[in-house]
Amino acid sequence: MAVVFDIKTDPRRSGSLVDAGGADQPADLVSNMSATADTARPRHPEKAHRPDQPILKKPDWIRVKAPGSPAWAATNKIVRDNKLVTVCEEAGCPNIGECWEKKHATFMIMGDTCTRACAFCNIRTGLPAALDPNEPESVADAVAKLGLSHVVITSVDRDDLADGGAQHFAQTIAAIRRRAPKTTIEILTPDFLRKDGALETVVAARPDVFNHNLETVPSKYLKVRPGARYFHSIRLLQQVKQLDPTIFTKSGIMVGLGEEREEVLQLMDDLRTAEVDFLTIGQYLQPTKKHHPVIRFVEPSEFKSFEAVANAKGFLLVSSSPFTRSSHHAGEDFARLQARRKAHLG
Ligand code: SF4
Repeated sequence: MAVVFDIKTDPRRSGSLVDAGGADQPADLVSNMSATADTARPRHPEKAHRPDQPILKKPDWIRVKAPGSPAWAATNKIVRDNKLVTVCEEAGCPNIGECWEKKHATFMIMGDTCTRACAFCNIRTGLPAALDPNEPESVADAVAKLGLSHVVITSVDRDDLADGGAQHFAQTIAAIRRRAPKTTIEILTPDFLRKDGALETVVAARPDVFNHNLETVPSKYLKVRPGARYFHSIRLLQQVKQLDPTIFTKSGIMVGLGEEREEVLQLMDDLRTAEVDFLTIGQYLQPTKKHHPVIRFVEPSEFKSFEAVANAKGFLLVSSSPFTRSSHHAGEDFARLQARRKAHLG
């Protein structure tokens, strides 16, 4: 699943800068932002009885632009009219004001309920509903209406489906190709753990960018991402390149979860071994008191240092800053990836 956060945003304060993240977010604003809010169900039943985690005070640099401009409202209307789910809302992403103003939304397919229960993630967990067979066309329709040059499609984990949702991903890519043939397509997928043939199905649909997030360093997996396996995720990315070397591969992590610097550098090497092109590194923000605590806020200068090291290790592109997210500036970054590949190939 995507790197996710909660946000303290007040749509009435359009254009203002507000604190991002943290469990001090007014509950009414959280639910107002959700396309699919369902107050009858607890959002995270598996976390409800966990002890509260301490909330670190946010430093000054964790501030974002609040949503609410006319351009944001236009994007919001298209999302509502097409009854779409976005990770921007479901995860409470801090960049929603900036991204939606530029008509950039990340669509989350296969429902709003995830079968995993990662300790960092604010997506609703539980037993998902059946797939909507009309969803690929609805997403394609929204992409065409928004006139997107680049779109990011992600999904919840669907461990309940025999193929993990691979066919649905492929159908969505095909529908976008038909309705908006000039739009480039980036997918941010689950790990398809124990779903034989799923990856091949998705790669055969030929997305332009295949993103799968490692989320954190291996030593943190048991606590942060217990349903996943670090080396399976590395192998998944490597297989994409082996199956189709023309597809750009991308992966991201959050920092501030208690990882050591050396572990991040080792992770970079692991991704380069799998020939991953693009690395994103952003600050973890704690969605609620029941989620994994922020162990520390990484200084902006440290993000710069990670960027320099990662560039030296040979990634085609690196984005590393407190507000870097998997899909943030994805369109601009895709253009950079193309230009750099061209330059590398001479
Ligand atoms: S960074 Fe991604 S998830 Fe966040 S608002 Fe932008 S498009 Fe949506």
